[in-house]
Amino acid sequence: MSLARRLLLRASRSVWLARELRRRAFLRRAVRRFMPGEDLAAALDAAAGFARDGIGAVLTELGEQVTHAVEAAAVRDRYRDALDRIGQRALPGHISVKLTHLGLDVDRDACLAHLLALAERAAGAGSFVWIDMEESRYVDVTLELFRRARAARDNVGVCLQAYLRRTLEDLVSLLPLAPAIRLVKGAYNEPPAVAFARKREVDGCYVMLADRLLQEAARGRARPAFGTHDLRLIAGIRERAAALRSSGDGYEVHMLYGIRAAEQRALARDGVRVRVLISYGTHWFPWYMRRLAERPANVWFVVRNLL
Ligand SMILES: Cc1cc2nc3c(=O)[nH]c(=O)nc-3n(C[C@H](O)[C@H](O)[C@H](O)COP(=O)(O)OP(=O)(O)OC[C@H]3O[C@@H](n4cnc5c(N)ncnc54)[C@H](O)[C@@H]3O)c2cc1C
Repeated sequence: MSLARRLLLRASRSVWLARELRRRAFLRRAVRRFMPGEDLAAALDAAAGFARDGIGAVLTELGEQVTHAVEAAAVRDRYRDALDRIGQRALPGHISVKLTHLGLDVDRDACLAHLLALAERAAGAGSFVWIDMEESRYVDVTLELFRRARAARDNVGVCLQAYLRRTLEDLVSLLPLAPAIRLVKGAYNEPPAVAFARKREVDGCYVMLADRLLQEAARGRARPAFGTHDLRLIAGIRERAAALRSSGDGYEVHMLYGIRAAEQRALARDGVRVRVLISYGTHWFPWYMRRLAERPANVWFVVRNLL
């Protein structure tokens, strides 16, 4: 992992930096590249725009690691509101939640109850709830809550990170649930004992896991979504899916708002099912630092806005 990436990921955890920088106009301008606005209405309008191009959306309110039960319940209520508005506007929109935003660190059972309440509301709106994967210390509990939620509802999916050494084992253990899995490379600062450090290794692991997911999908044992902007990987996935004769419906490609926008539209035109993850909310600092860490060259974009 490069020094720039490590520093940016460390900065993402700084409460002081978040407080100092969040209100700076140059940074707020730079952030707009990755989110259409801070409020839900902006995210819904963006989702409607994508829908016109045949692209679905996944909405996520930024925030993580809440420390009070009241705050977690408020997050649940705001997501319920988002789901109601997705339903009212008949948008092809899912939501994606971080369990620590729903109070995982405060009360595990209450967090599961919030998750189930959202899945129920999502079902009414024709929607779906994705669970983000956070730092490696949360993987066991995230998968445990996913399993419990999946036992009750089928419109819940979970993210797995290819950079973790354990992920193949996790994937295999989830297969009896015919799970919806969003495979990503992984965005956090993890020690070499738990995560591959070299990009080549992470990419190799992604290819292996994607292949396994496509094989399982062809047998109806998984519903994969590939969360990546890596066009080489996506081309490989498409070829492999065609070889396995799994239809375009057998998998989805998910990308982030503001990254590879032209390619998102081109893939959708080509018949690939594409969704764009649209973030909103005021707690964007840690999330934005992770976006910069993924491509430290993005820092120049911030500097340009500063100048
Ligand atoms: C829909 C979705 C959901 C995600 N959910 C999670 C999650 O729950 N947990 C988690 O740990 N991670 C999550 N991630 C982030 C993921 O782990 C990676 O950090 C991120 O996607 C970058 O990896 P990549 O696959 O795009 O490949 P990379 O090899 O990093 O990038 C490939 C190419 O894409 C472009 N690119 C990638 N990132 C950026 C960027 N920030 N700015 C500009 N260009 C860029 C560049 O051209 C780059 O060369 C998610 C990503 C997506 C797309």
